[in-house]
Amino acid sequence: MGGTLSHKSLGKIQRTILTLIWIAPIVAAAAGPPVFKHSDVVFMYSADAAAYKAYGATFVAWGGASTTSSVKMHHDLGIRCTGAMWCLTAGARLLYENTELREAVSRDIEGNPVAVPWLFDHTFKGMPTYFGCTNHPAFRQHVREQVRKAMAGGADGLHIDDHLGTAGSVIGHGGGFCDYCMAGFRQYLKNHATPEQLAKAGITDLERFDYRDWVRKYAATRKEYLKIWRKIPLMDLFERYQVEAAAENVRELGELGAQIAGHPILLSANAPILHEQHRPVVKYLTHIVSETHFNASQGTTRLDDAIKTFEIARQLEKPLAATAFGWDWAHIHATSATELVRVWIALTYAHGQWFMVPHPTRQWCFNNERGTHWHRAPIAEYAPLYQFIRANARWFDDFEWADASGVQTTPSLICTVRRNENRRALAVHVINRDYDPKTDWMRPAKHVRITLPSRLAEGLGGTANLLRYDAAPQTVPIRREGGRAVFEIPEVRLWTVAGIEPTGSQ
Ligand SMILES: [Zn+2]
Repeated sequence: MGGTLSHKSLGKIQRTILTLIWIAPIVAAAAGPPVFKHSDVVFMYSADAAAYKAYGATFVAWGGASTTSSVKMHHDLGIRCTGAMWCLTAGARLLYENTELREAVSRDIEGNPVAVPWLFDHTFKGMPTYFGCTNHPAFRQHVREQVRKAMAGGADGLHIDDHLGTAGSVIGHGGGFCDYCMAGFRQYLKNHATPEQLAKAGITDLERFDYRDWVRKYAATRKEYLKIWRKIPLMDLFERYQVEAAAENVRELGELGAQIAGHPILLSANAPILHEQHRPVVKYLTHIVSETHFNASQGTTRLDDAIKTFEIARQLEKPLAATAFGWDWAHIHATSATELVRVWIALTYAHGQWFMVPHPTRQWCFNNERGTHWHRAPIAEYAPLYQFIRANARWFDDFEWADASGVQTTPSLICTVRRNENRRALAVHVINRDYDPKTDWMRPAKHVRITLPSRLAEGLGGTANLLRYDAAPQTVPIRREGGRAVFEIPEVRLWTVAGIEPTGSQ
């Protein structure tokens, strides 16, 4: 639904119908029809029409459509679009200029503001970039104004970056100790802690409980605190409180976004769900748009974090639009390892998720030496892969996860199996991980034998259609060995999708 709809010729009545159609996936986001298609092509930030066309874009996930004209421009191209904002900080400049916002920052156990470590290079007249406190009324007001601006054009969705807000400053950075956070935690304990838990923790008077007094018994300075914070009593509950408060904030921002846009909206957050603190928010989202660990500096040897992330998204029943982390992109920027990025793209789609188009002008890179910098990802290197997906949408859309255990093949390959229950068809994705970093190229795997266990082989036809982005399609016979199905792929260079129709349909 939706991804390829053009608003160009829709009259008012049709618009109303469209709005009603869009309610359905949002209301039924957990178990209902998919909001998106597996063959969708997702841009991270907005780009020009030529880039959208080169990639066959269907959705822009991370903002760029905050005005009526930019929303219209996307809709005219058949692309759904979003407004974006973040809950991280008001930014160094506003903190410098605005006393109220300067007060509304995350504070450590000493009462000092906590700076965002990875924005060390973002200062204004000596003012660092401090974490805003999403529990403080002034900063809450500020982020709500950002939502109003982001959704003023009536975009299809709202994307929230740094959704953890204050909770992000709690985990590993020593923040979360302002008066508002303390009041919030007191309330949280009232609602969530059992009398036994409170007694065990030695809290006799919850009305006058201030967690800072408690923490100071263990650590009076940030430095001390950061050494032992995990061991301080009630810290688990404190962290849970902060994370749940952040999730509730996102839910409210989504509500506000829909109100401003005047229609139900898609709602996403940059939630790297490999980390547990990013999961509580997911229940409020229609989809996840997130940075994912691809461990670029280690070639294809450490793809397990990404694969695990895809698996968690599947279990949470939310589609995931992934990109690599800033340091992965910094590696790509420094080495021009385009083949490695193509592996990420293939791997992500093979798991039923989307890898966002490497941005032609603004792919965020970060490392300690250079801080924030930007990569221009060459369209010619990546567009053919996305065009392949668009052209073969019938082997992606409505194909859902199937258990690949028992599938036998060469160890240097990654296999996933996806099944279309309606068509009773199977798509076997075979990805080469035999990567040579020196040449930035895959060593092709020749004469690859794929054996499907009888559980998967049952009902399949006699041939497999081998699809590649860099070669013409090929058809190979499927042999039967007992109940198992066996076929051979002459060469797996980067990625082969073996599409198999059910018996009787060929
Ligand atoms: Zn606070």
